[in-house]
Amino acid sequence: MTPGNMPLRAKVASSVSRTAAALSRAAGRGDGSVIGGWIGLKIDPQLLSHLAAGRQMALVSGTNGKTTTTRLTAAAMGVLGEVATNSLGANMPTGHTSALARAGHTPYAVLEVDEHYLDQVIGATEPRVVALLNLSRDQLDRAKEVAMMASLWRDALRDVPTHVVANADDPMVVWAARGATKVTWVASGQRWHDDSWVCPECGSHIERPNATGRVDAEWYCTACDLRRPVPQWSVDGDAVVDPAGVRHLVSLQLPGRVNRANAATALAVAADFGVRVTDALPRLAEVTSIAGRYATVRRDGRTIRLLLAKNPAGWLEAFDMAEPAPTLLSINARDPDGLDTSWLYDVDFSPLRGRRVLITGDRAMDLAVRLEVNDVPFEHVTSFGRAIAAVPPGRLEVIANYTAFQDIRAELDRVN
Ligand SMILES: [Zn+2]
Repeated sequence: MTPGNMPLRAKVASSVSRTAAALSRAAGRGDGSVIGGWIGLKIDPQLLSHLAAGRQMALVSGTNGKTTTTRLTAAAMGVLGEVATNSLGANMPTGHTSALARAGHTPYAVLEVDEHYLDQVIGATEPRVVALLNLSRDQLDRAKEVAMMASLWRDALRDVPTHVVANADDPMVVWAARGATKVTWVASGQRWHDDSWVCPECGSHIERPNATGRVDAEWYCTACDLRRPVPQWSVDGDAVVDPAGVRHLVSLQLPGRVNRANAATALAVAADFGVRVTDALPRLAEVTSIAGRYATVRRDGRTIRLLLAKNPAGWLEAFDMAEPAPTLLSINARDPDGLDTSWLYDVDFSPLRGRRVLITGDRAMDLAVRLEVNDVPFEHVTSFGRAIAAVPPGRLEVIANYTAFQDIRAELDRVN
Protein backbone atom coordinates (compact mmCIF):
# COMPACT_ATOMS: atom_id res chain seq x y z
CA MET A 1 0.00 0.00 0.00
CA THR A 2 1.40 3.43 -0.87
CA PRO A 3 0.44 6.62 0.99
CA GLY A 4 -1.71 7.55 -2.01
CA ASN A 5 -4.16 4.75 -1.25
CA MET A 6 -4.00 4.79 2.55
CA PRO A 7 -7.44 4.79 4.16
CA LEU A 8 -8.81 8.29 4.81
CA ARG A 9 -8.46 7.92 8.59
CA ALA A 10 -4.78 7.01 8.20
CA LYS A 11 -4.19 9.99 5.89
CA VAL A 12 -5.79 12.37 8.37
CA ALA A 13 -3.92 10.78 11.28
CA SER A 14 -0.63 11.02 9.41
CA SER A 15 -1.18 14.67 8.57
CA VAL A 16 -2.25 15.59 12.11
CA SER A 17 0.77 13.72 13.45
CA ARG A 18 3.11 15.80 11.28
CA THR A 19 1.37 19.04 12.27
CA ALA A 20 1.49 18.21 15.98
CA ALA A 21 5.17 17.37 15.74
CA ALA A 22 5.88 20.63 13.93
CA LEU A 23 3.90 22.63 16.52
CA SER A 24 5.77 20.91 19.34
CA ARG A 25 9.11 21.71 17.70
CA ALA A 26 8.05 25.32 17.15
CA ALA A 27 7.14 25.57 20.84
CA GLY A 28 10.68 24.44 21.68
CA ARG A 29 9.56 21.14 23.17
CA GLY A 30 12.17 18.83 21.72
CA ASP A 31 11.77 17.35 18.26
CA GLY A 32 8.06 16.63 18.68
CA SER A 33 8.21 13.08 17.39
CA VAL A 34 6.67 11.48 20.46
CA ILE A 35 3.68 13.82 20.76
CA GLY A 36 3.11 13.75 16.99
CA GLY A 37 3.12 9.96 16.91
CA TRP A 38 0.93 9.75 19.99
CA ILE A 39 -1.78 11.95 18.46
CA GLY A 40 -1.58 10.11 15.14
CA LEU A 41 -2.04 6.72 16.85
CA LYS A 42 -5.00 8.09 18.86
CA ILE A 43 -6.80 8.93 15.62
CA ASP A 44 -5.80 5.72 13.84
CA PRO A 45 -4.44 2.90 16.03
CA GLN A 46 -3.31 1.13 12.83
CA LEU A 47 -1.37 4.15 11.62
CA LEU A 48 2.06 2.56 12.00
CA SER A 49 0.98 -0.41 9.84
CA HIS A 50 -0.48 1.92 7.24
CA LEU A 51 2.66 4.02 7.12
CA ALA A 52 4.91 0.93 6.93
CA ALA A 53 2.94 -0.68 4.10
CA GLY A 54 4.68 -0.40 0.76
CA ARG A 55 8.09 0.24 2.31
CA GLN A 56 10.89 -2.29 2.64
CA MET A 57 11.70 -2.19 6.32
CA ALA A 58 14.62 -3.09 8.57
CA LEU A 59 14.41 -2.93 12.37
CA VAL A 60 17.38 -2.68 14.74
CA SER A 61 17.11 -3.66 18.40
CA GLY A 62 19.31 -4.48 21.39
CA THR A 63 20.39 -3.02 24.70
CA ASN A 64 23.40 -1.11 23.38
CA GLY A 65 24.42 0.37 20.04
CA LYS A 66 21.03 0.51 18.39
CA THR A 67 21.01 4.25 17.70
CA THR A 68 24.43 4.04 16.07
CA THR A 69 23.68 0.86 14.13
CA THR A 70 20.40 2.32 12.89
CA ARG A 71 22.24 5.36 11.62
CA LEU A 72 24.91 3.22 9.91
CA THR A 73 22.27 0.94 8.37
CA ALA A 74 20.25 3.89 7.07
CA ALA A 75 23.48 5.29 5.58
CA ALA A 76 24.27 1.98 3.86
CA MET A 77 20.70 1.62 2.55
CA GLY A 78 20.95 5.13 1.13
CA VAL A 79 22.80 3.49 -1.78
CA LEU A 80 19.42 2.21 -3.00
CA GLY A 81 17.24 5.26 -2.50
CA GLU A 82 15.48 7.35 0.09
CA VAL A 83 15.37 5.87 3.60
CA ALA A 84 13.00 6.92 6.38
CA THR A 85 14.50 6.57 9.85
CA ASN A 86 13.94 7.64 13.45
CA SER A 87 17.36 9.23 13.63
CA LEU A 88 16.58 11.14 16.82
CA GLY A 89 16.30 8.01 18.89
CA ALA A 90 12.52 8.09 19.59
CA ASN A 91 12.43 4.30 19.46
CA MET A 92 8.91 3.33 20.51
CA PRO A 93 5.84 3.06 18.23
CA THR A 94 4.94 6.74 18.72
CA GLY A 95 8.42 7.71 17.49
CA HIS A 96 8.23 5.24 14.57
CA THR A 97 4.84 6.57 13.52
CA SER A 98 6.05 10.12 13.63
CA ALA A 99 9.28 9.34 11.74
CA LEU A 100 7.42 7.59 8.90
CA ALA A 101 4.72 10.29 8.72
CA ARG A 102 7.36 12.97 8.57
CA ALA A 103 9.44 11.22 5.90
CA GLY A 104 6.55 10.95 3.43
CA HIS A 105 6.75 8.14 0.94
CA THR A 106 10.12 6.43 0.84
CA PRO A 107 10.89 3.01 -0.63
CA TYR A 108 12.94 2.02 2.46
CA ALA A 109 12.83 2.51 6.21
CA VAL A 110 15.26 1.62 8.98
CA LEU A 111 13.88 1.92 12.50
CA GLU A 112 15.58 1.69 15.87
CA VAL A 113 13.27 -0.27 18.18
CA ASP A 114 13.29 -0.34 21.98
CA GLU A 115 13.81 -4.00 22.88
CA HIS A 116 10.55 -4.11 24.86
CA TYR A 117 8.53 -3.14 21.77
CA LEU A 118 10.17 -5.39 19.20
CA ASP A 119 7.31 -7.91 18.96
CA GLN A 120 4.72 -5.16 18.61
CA VAL A 121 6.69 -3.32 15.91
CA ILE A 122 7.40 -6.55 13.99
CA GLY A 123 3.65 -7.17 13.99
CA ALA A 124 2.85 -3.65 12.78
CA THR A 125 5.56 -3.25 10.13
CA GLU A 126 6.27 -6.78 8.83
CA PRO A 127 9.95 -5.99 8.33
CA ARG A 128 12.11 -7.70 5.76
CA VAL A 129 15.10 -7.74 8.14
CA VAL A 130 15.49 -7.50 11.92
CA ALA A 131 18.95 -6.91 13.41
CA LEU A 132 19.56 -8.11 16.99
CA LEU A 133 22.65 -6.64 18.62
CA ASN A 134 22.85 -7.75 22.26
CA LEU A 135 20.91 -8.12 25.49
CA SER A 136 22.21 -7.04 28.86
CA ARG A 137 20.92 -5.51 32.05
CA ASP A 138 20.10 -1.84 32.41
CA GLN A 139 20.66 -0.03 35.69
CA LEU A 140 16.94 -0.41 36.27
CA ASP A 141 16.71 -4.15 36.06
CA ARG A 142 18.64 -7.33 36.54
CA ALA A 143 19.48 -10.56 34.80
CA LYS A 144 15.94 -11.92 35.11
CA GLU A 145 14.75 -9.12 32.84
CA VAL A 146 17.36 -10.15 30.25
CA ALA A 147 16.05 -13.72 30.08
CA MET A 148 12.49 -12.42 29.80
CA MET A 149 13.45 -10.15 26.93
CA ALA A 150 15.22 -13.00 25.10
CA SER A 151 12.08 -15.07 25.43
CA LEU A 152 9.91 -12.20 24.12
CA TRP A 153 12.19 -11.85 21.08
CA ARG A 154 12.17 -15.58 20.46
CA ASP A 155 8.37 -15.65 20.35
CA ALA A 156 8.25 -12.58 18.12
CA LEU A 157 10.61 -14.14 15.55
CA ARG A 158 9.18 -17.63 15.39
CA ASP A 159 7.15 -18.38 12.24
CA VAL A 160 7.57 -14.99 10.61
CA PRO A 161 9.28 -14.72 7.20
CA THR A 162 11.65 -12.04 8.50
CA HIS A 163 15.39 -12.43 7.88
CA VAL A 164 17.24 -12.05 11.18
CA VAL A 165 20.77 -10.62 11.36
CA ALA A 166 22.04 -11.50 14.83
CA ASN A 167 25.11 -11.34 17.06
CA ALA A 168 26.74 -14.79 17.27
CA ASP A 169 28.71 -13.75 20.37
CA ASP A 170 25.73 -13.13 22.67
CA PRO A 171 24.19 -16.42 23.88
CA MET A 172 20.89 -14.73 24.75
CA VAL A 173 20.62 -13.29 21.24
CA VAL A 174 21.56 -16.59 19.62
CA TRP A 175 18.93 -18.43 21.63
CA ALA A 176 16.30 -15.79 20.71
CA ALA A 177 17.20 -15.89 17.01
CA ARG A 178 17.74 -19.55 16.33
CA GLY A 179 14.04 -20.31 15.91
CA ALA A 180 13.79 -17.78 13.07
CA THR A 181 13.30 -18.87 9.46
CA LYS A 182 16.53 -17.36 8.18
CA VAL A 183 19.45 -16.07 10.25
CA THR A 184 22.71 -14.41 9.26
CA TRP A 185 25.26 -14.44 12.10
CA VAL A 186 27.62 -11.55 12.76
CA ALA A 187 30.58 -11.81 15.14
CA SER A 188 29.66 -8.56 16.83
CA GLY A 189 31.44 -9.41 20.06
CA GLN A 190 30.40 -9.42 23.70
CA ARG A 191 32.60 -7.68 26.24
CA TRP A 192 30.05 -8.01 29.06
CA HIS A 193 29.43 -11.63 30.07
CA ASP A 194 27.59 -11.26 33.36
CA ASP A 195 24.11 -11.70 31.91
CA SER A 196 24.92 -14.79 29.90
CA TRP A 197 26.65 -17.36 32.09
CA VAL A 198 23.45 -19.36 32.33
CA CYS A 199 22.05 -21.16 29.28
CA PRO A 200 18.58 -19.77 28.44
CA GLU A 201 17.61 -23.17 26.98
CA CYS A 202 18.46 -25.52 29.85
CA GLY A 203 19.85 -23.47 32.76
CA SER A 204 23.33 -25.03 32.66
CA HIS A 205 26.62 -23.16 32.70
CA ILE A 206 27.93 -21.49 29.55
CA GLU A 207 31.63 -22.11 29.00
CA ARG A 208 34.01 -19.69 27.28
CA PRO A 209 37.35 -21.53 27.21
CA ASN A 210 39.35 -18.92 25.23
CA ALA A 211 37.67 -15.69 26.24
CA THR A 212 40.70 -13.95 27.79
CA GLY A 213 41.30 -10.77 25.82
CA ARG A 214 38.74 -11.69 23.15
CA VAL A 215 35.19 -10.49 22.68
CA ASP A 216 34.36 -12.96 19.91
CA ALA A 217 35.60 -16.23 21.39
CA GLU A 218 33.93 -19.63 21.19
CA TRP A 219 31.20 -20.36 23.75
CA TYR A 220 28.95 -23.34 24.39
CA CYS A 221 26.45 -24.69 26.86
CA THR A 222 27.91 -27.52 28.94
CA ALA A 223 24.65 -29.52 28.80
CA CYS A 224 22.62 -28.84 25.62
CA ASP A 225 23.33 -28.01 21.97
CA LEU A 226 23.31 -24.22 22.34
CA ARG A 227 26.66 -22.94 21.14
CA ARG A 228 28.20 -20.11 19.17
CA PRO A 229 27.11 -20.41 15.54
CA VAL A 230 29.70 -19.95 12.79
CA PRO A 231 29.43 -16.27 11.84
CA GLN A 232 29.08 -15.22 8.19
CA TRP A 233 30.31 -11.70 8.96
CA SER A 234 33.13 -10.82 11.33
CA VAL A 235 35.47 -8.04 12.43
CA ASP A 236 39.21 -8.47 11.94
CA GLY A 237 41.24 -5.49 13.17
CA ASP A 238 40.20 -2.49 11.08
CA ALA A 239 38.33 -4.65 8.59
CA VAL A 240 34.97 -6.30 8.20
CA VAL A 241 35.06 -9.76 6.63
CA ASP A 242 32.08 -10.60 4.42
CA PRO A 243 30.47 -14.04 3.87
CA ALA A 244 32.78 -14.70 0.88
CA GLY A 245 35.79 -14.17 3.15
CA VAL A 246 36.72 -10.83 1.57
CA ARG A 247 38.27 -8.29 3.96
CA HIS A 248 36.96 -4.73 3.62
CA LEU A 249 38.90 -1.99 5.35
CA VAL A 250 36.38 0.07 7.31
CA SER A 251 37.30 3.65 8.11
CA LEU A 252 34.78 5.10 10.50
CA GLN A 253 34.69 8.37 12.36
CA LEU A 254 33.20 6.45 15.28
CA PRO A 255 35.64 4.86 17.76
CA GLY A 256 36.17 1.32 18.97
CA ARG A 257 35.80 -2.28 17.88
CA VAL A 258 32.16 -2.16 18.88
CA ASN A 259 31.43 0.38 16.15
CA ARG A 260 33.23 -1.71 13.53
CA ALA A 261 30.93 -4.50 14.66
CA ASN A 262 27.94 -2.17 14.33
CA ALA A 263 29.17 -1.41 10.81
CA ALA A 264 29.36 -5.16 10.07
CA THR A 265 25.74 -5.53 11.16
CA ALA A 266 24.70 -2.54 9.03
CA LEU A 267 26.50 -4.05 6.01
CA ALA A 268 24.88 -7.45 6.60
CA VAL A 269 21.41 -5.89 6.77
CA ALA A 270 21.99 -3.75 3.69
CA ALA A 271 23.38 -6.76 1.79
CA ASP A 272 20.01 -8.47 2.17
CA PHE A 273 18.46 -5.57 0.24
CA GLY A 274 21.15 -5.90 -2.45
CA VAL A 275 23.64 -3.25 -1.32
CA ARG A 276 27.26 -4.06 -2.13
CA VAL A 277 29.79 -3.53 0.66
CA THR A 278 32.05 -1.44 -1.57
CA ASP A 279 29.15 0.92 -2.35
CA ALA A 280 28.13 1.24 1.31
CA LEU A 281 31.57 1.85 2.87
CA PRO A 282 32.02 5.48 1.75
CA ARG A 283 28.62 6.30 3.25
CA LEU A 284 29.51 4.67 6.56
CA ALA A 285 32.68 6.75 6.67
CA GLU A 286 30.57 9.93 6.59
CA VAL A 287 28.66 9.13 9.78
CA THR A 288 29.99 11.29 12.60
CA SER A 289 28.32 11.82 15.94
CA ILE A 290 24.81 10.68 16.72
CA ALA A 291 22.76 12.94 19.02
CA GLY A 292 26.05 14.11 20.50
CA ARG A 293 27.42 10.60 21.08
CA TYR A 294 31.07 10.41 20.06
CA ALA A 295 30.99 14.15 19.34
CA THR A 296 34.38 15.81 19.45
CA VAL A 297 34.37 19.43 20.60
CA ARG A 298 37.23 21.90 20.84
CA ARG A 299 37.16 24.19 23.84
CA ASP A 300 39.99 26.25 25.36
CA GLY A 301 42.68 24.26 23.60
CA ARG A 302 41.19 20.94 24.70
CA THR A 303 39.79 18.36 22.33
CA ILE A 304 36.88 16.87 24.22
CA ARG A 305 35.19 13.66 23.15
CA LEU A 306 31.84 12.59 24.57
CA LEU A 307 31.05 8.93 25.20
CA LEU A 308 27.64 7.92 26.54
CA ALA A 309 27.42 4.84 28.77
CA LYS A 310 23.96 3.94 29.97
CA ASN A 311 24.50 0.53 31.57
CA PRO A 312 27.31 -1.79 32.72
CA ALA A 313 27.96 -3.28 29.28
CA GLY A 314 28.09 0.26 27.86
CA TRP A 315 30.71 1.30 30.43
CA LEU A 316 33.00 -1.58 29.43
CA GLU A 317 32.70 -0.59 25.77
CA ALA A 318 33.40 3.05 26.64
CA PHE A 319 36.63 2.10 28.47
CA ASP A 320 37.70 0.27 25.31
CA MET A 321 36.89 3.29 23.12
CA ALA A 322 38.49 5.98 25.26
CA GLU A 323 42.00 6.86 24.18
CA PRO A 324 44.72 6.81 26.85
CA ALA A 325 44.24 10.46 27.80
CA PRO A 326 42.82 12.28 30.86
CA THR A 327 39.31 10.92 31.35
CA LEU A 328 36.35 12.54 33.09
CA LEU A 329 33.64 10.25 34.47
CA SER A 330 30.29 11.80 35.31
CA ILE A 331 27.45 10.01 37.07
CA ASN A 332 23.97 11.16 37.97
CA ALA A 333 21.14 9.10 39.43
CA ARG A 334 18.04 10.95 38.27
CA ASP A 335 14.90 9.21 37.00
CA PRO A 336 16.15 8.33 33.49
CA ASP A 337 19.41 6.97 34.94
CA GLY A 338 17.83 4.87 37.69
CA LEU A 339 18.00 6.18 41.25
CA ASP A 340 20.14 3.31 42.52
CA THR A 341 23.89 3.41 41.81
CA SER A 342 24.67 -0.12 43.00
CA TRP A 343 25.24 -1.06 39.32
CA LEU A 344 28.62 0.66 39.72
CA TYR A 345 29.72 -2.55 41.47
CA ASP A 346 28.85 -4.59 38.38
CA VAL A 347 31.43 -2.69 36.35
CA ASP A 348 35.15 -3.39 36.57
CA PHE A 349 36.84 0.03 36.48
CA SER A 350 40.37 -1.40 36.52
CA PRO A 351 40.90 -0.73 32.76
CA LEU A 352 41.19 2.94 33.81
CA ARG A 353 44.30 2.31 35.93
CA GLY A 354 47.32 4.17 34.64
CA ARG A 355 45.43 7.12 33.23
CA ARG A 356 44.46 10.41 34.87
CA VAL A 357 40.85 10.08 36.04
CA LEU A 358 38.58 12.96 37.06
CA ILE A 359 35.09 12.50 38.45
CA THR A 360 32.01 14.72 38.68
CA GLY A 361 28.20 14.58 38.64
CA ASP A 362 25.47 14.30 41.30
CA ARG A 363 26.74 10.92 42.43
CA ALA A 364 30.49 11.49 42.13
CA MET A 365 30.93 10.27 45.72
CA ASP A 366 29.43 6.86 44.90
CA LEU A 367 31.83 6.66 42.01
CA ALA A 368 34.71 7.69 44.30
CA VAL A 369 34.04 4.77 46.63
CA ARG A 370 33.82 2.41 43.68
CA LEU A 371 37.12 3.60 42.20
CA GLU A 372 38.84 3.23 45.54
CA VAL A 373 37.73 -0.40 45.73
CA ASN A 374 39.18 -0.90 42.23
CA ASP A 375 42.42 0.91 43.19
CA VAL A 376 42.00 3.63 40.56
CA PRO A 377 43.33 7.05 41.68
CA PHE A 378 41.02 9.98 40.85
CA GLU A 379 40.41 13.71 41.37
CA HIS A 380 36.99 15.15 42.13
CA VAL A 381 35.90 18.29 40.26
CA THR A 382 32.67 20.17 40.98
CA SER A 383 31.75 20.92 37.37
CA PHE A 384 32.52 20.10 33.77
CA GLY A 385 34.10 23.55 33.39
CA ARG A 386 36.50 22.81 36.22
CA ALA A 387 37.43 19.52 34.62
CA ILE A 388 38.43 21.36 31.44
CA ALA A 389 40.48 23.81 33.49
CA ALA A 390 42.17 21.00 35.42
CA VAL A 391 43.64 19.18 32.41
CA PRO A 392 46.41 20.48 30.14
CA PRO A 393 45.65 21.44 26.52
CA GLY A 394 45.14 18.28 24.48
CA ARG A 395 42.67 15.49 24.65
CA LEU A 396 39.98 14.97 27.28
CA GLU A 397 37.78 11.88 27.14
CA VAL A 398 34.37 12.17 28.82
CA ILE A 399 32.31 9.13 29.79
CA ALA A 400 28.92 9.91 31.30
CA ASN A 401 25.62 8.26 32.01
CA TYR A 402 22.38 9.52 30.53
CA THR A 403 21.44 12.74 32.32
CA ALA A 404 25.09 13.54 33.10
CA PHE A 405 25.75 13.31 29.36
CA GLN A 406 22.82 15.63 28.62
CA ASP A 407 24.09 18.14 31.22
CA ILE A 408 27.52 18.21 29.59
CA ARG A 409 26.00 18.57 26.12
CA ALA A 410 23.96 21.52 27.41
CA GLU A 411 27.13 23.08 28.78
CA LEU A 412 28.72 22.65 25.38
CA ASP A 413 25.75 24.36 23.68
CA ARG A 414 24.03 21.24 22.45
CA VAL A 415 26.89 19.96 20.36
CA ASN A 416 25.93 17.72 17.50
ZN1 LIG B 1 21.91 -25.39 27.59
